[in-house]
Amino acid sequence: MLKVGFGYDVHALVKGRKLILGGLDIKHPNDLGLSGHSDADVLLHALIDSLISISNYGSIGELFPENKENKDISSLILLEKTVKKLNNDYILKINNIDITVISKSIRITEIRNDISKKIEKILKIKKDQINIKGKSGNSIGNAGNDKAIETYCVILAEIQRRDKNE
Ligand SMILES: [Zn+2]
Repeated sequence: MLKVGFGYDVHALVKGRKLILGGLDIKHPNDLGLSGHSDADVLLHALIDSLISISNYGSIGELFPENKENKDISSLILLEKTVKKLNNDYILKINNIDITVISKSIRITEIRNDISKKIEKILKIKKDQINIKGKSGNSIGNAGNDKAIETYCVILAEIQRRDKNE
């Protein structure tokens, strides 16, 4: 079955936290980082969200509850766990992934290739199957005023449930 999955996430920018985005440890010009129970990687959370959508796993909070095990956990590990579960339950062929990040201060063009490589490796996809773009938010709302970073993600994939009796 051909399915489209949509994912969205937002995390607040605060003092005293690392800024992890797309699996990269980056620097915010005002030394701000994303707050959250895990590493708060808003980009990977939106991607995981879209994978959860096509596999009917509910929500990211159901799959990875805010418990001790997931405290400050790398979202690369959460993505790996999601992909492992997906491949166990389904035959998955990703067509393409489209990610849009909204941030006043973080220039996505400078880091998108490095982020893309990390995602390509975990999802076993090619460079031309993923696009990551950034928007400034035009000084509107939380992301446009450096109070948060927002991410939207769309994925198109061919997905088929594995027959466990075979
Ligand atoms: Zn999140």
